[in-house]
Formats: sequence, C-alpha cells, structure tokens
Amino acid sequence: MKYPRILAALAAVAGLASAAAVHAQAAWPTKPIALVVPFAAGGPTDVVARTLGASMTKSLGQTVVIENKLGAGGTVAASQVAKANPDGYTFFIHHNGMATSTALYRKLQYNPLTDFEFVSQAVDVPMTLLARKDFPAKDFKEFQAYVKANASKINLANAGLGAVSQLCGLMLERALGVKLTAVPFQGTAPAMNALLGGQVDILCDQTTQTIPHIKSGNVKFYGVTTKNRIKALPDAPTLHEQGLKDFEVVVWHGIYAPKGTPRPILDKMNAAVRTALKDPDVTKRMADLGAEIVPDSKLTSEGLQTWLKSEIDKWGPVIRAAGAFAD
Ligand code: ASP
Repeated sequence: MKYPRILAALAAVAGLASAAAVHAQAAWPTKPIALVVPFAAGGPTDVVARTLGASMTKSLGQTVVIENKLGAGGTVAASQVAKANPDGYTFFIHHNGMATSTALYRKLQYNPLTDFEFVSQAVDVPMTLLARKDFPAKDFKEFQAYVKANASKINLANAGLGAVSQLCGLMLERALGVKLTAVPFQGTAPAMNALLGGQVDILCDQTTQTIPHIKSGNVKFYGVTTKNRIKALPDAPTLHEQGLKDFEVVVWHGIYAPKGTPRPILDKMNAAVRTALKDPDVTKRMADLGAEIVPDSKLTSEGLQTWLKSEIDKWGPVIRAAGAFAD
C-alpha cells in the first residue's frame, strides 16, 4: 500500500470531522435559529410562525428568529431556503402554496419534494370571504348576484400566485363563473390594510388574520371556506351551506429545512414543534384564531412529506383546468 502515512492522516482527519459533526448535532442549537416566513409580517402565516416560534424559543433555549422573505406568492423564499446551508439553523414554514406553486409556475427554481427535509405539519386554518365595508351586498346571496353582474368592475386582493388567497379567489371565480381583477400584495397583511381602506373590493384570507376584523365589523363577511362551521365563529355560515357546494379551502402548514439538514437536528426540531403545539399559550391563541392543531400522524416528517405529495396531486389538475399559470 503506497503512502500509508498519508492515508492514515486522512482517515484521522475524516474521523475528527465526523466526530465534530456528531458533537455539533448533539449540542444543537448553539445559536439563534431562522424560521423563514414567505409572506409579510402581521399576516396569517406570520402569526402562526411567531406564535410557534415564541414557544420553541423557550423549549430550545435559543431564539427562533422570524425572517420574512417576500415575493412571488412564497416561491422566492422557498427557492432561497432550498439553497440555504443545511446546518440546522435555517427552517421554513409554508402552507398549501408549497404544493400549488408546482402547477402555477412553469419554471419553479426548486422541487418541493426533493430540495427540502420535512420536519412536521402544525395547524390547519380556515379561510373567510370578506369584502370592503361598503361593498353593496349584505349577504352571500346578494354577493353572488352583484359579483356576477359586475365582475369586470370588481377586484380581488391576494398575496400573489401561490398564495392561498389566490387559490381561494381562483376557486371562487370558477364557482361563480366570473373573472375578477387580481390585485397582488406581498402578503395578506398589506392586502387587509387595503381592504380596510376600501382600496380593494374582495379578499379571501385565513382566520388567523381575519377574526379580529370580522368581530370589529370593519369588513363585510360572507362565510367560511370549511365544510363545517368553525368553533371560533360559530354563527358564521359556510360557503358550502350557502350554495357553493363542496367549496372547501383549508390552509395547512408545513415546516421544512434545506435538503441535507442532519436527521438528529430535524428530530429535535420536530420535538420542539410538538412541544409548542401543547403549550397552553399556543393552544389558546390558535383556538381563538380558528386554527386547529393537526393529529399526531401529521406531526411527523413522513406525515408532512406524504401530505405534500397528495396536495400536489390534488391541486395540480384544479389549477391547470383554471389556466392559472406564471412563467
Ligand atoms: N394569506 C396569505 C396567502 O394568501 C399568506 C400570508 O400573507 O400569510 O397565502
């Protein structure tokens, strides 16, 4: 065998390197952790992230720092996280958009199924159909009639292609047989401000942002997008019961890491998510905002990966049929 001493030295270095890696994983976290949110601060996704993040900070002993990275319905953030260092200090929270973007964008800069590690799901959140306060329809029956008669003059705010507000809007247009003018924002926090200011007509958004505005009476509210009524708004009718048969959009949330993030770190992050979802501060805030903590089977890496694949299969045909594409 040639160069035995060099090979022995290389083997020693390799052994040291892997021992250091094992030590780093065992000691994780030793510095603040980034949780990337693909929409503007104050919006429904951000509310879920900050609520979970505050609780995980307690259990992990390091600050979970929320980083809002905006643009293109969440796909800018997803492509940045896909390329991030898989060192266990970058994580990502996203919703149905992780699935719908595969059908909405012809040239996506990442593959959601192969460029990420899967940590866990977290909460499911209903959506609510709103209009600006002076929108000329006092109930959903009048809303449908007015929108059908005036579609060309009506705009619908959303958070871009890949946002669930865009998905809900697409489904509403298909259900009513109309085409509305989309007004995209960097998240539905600014979209809600525009609605409250009367600058846009309609917004479909998660209860994690809309419940306080519905209760304040500063918007018109026509119903929820779940099949059944929700505990947080018990008197609110569903769009399904008001005639949009089988109309259902539930916003699920997945937590991801860049591909290659070590499994022991993913497992610790998964445990921190599970602990947060049992934190009374979290469970109360989520209940107040209409968010439902998902069953244990979805609080696993495999549960998220399987669910994401099924959602890609489910929404692809719906979106392609609607012809909603971006290049
Ligand atoms: N509600 C936004 C969306 O439509 C996301 C957000 O702003 O949190 O996807």
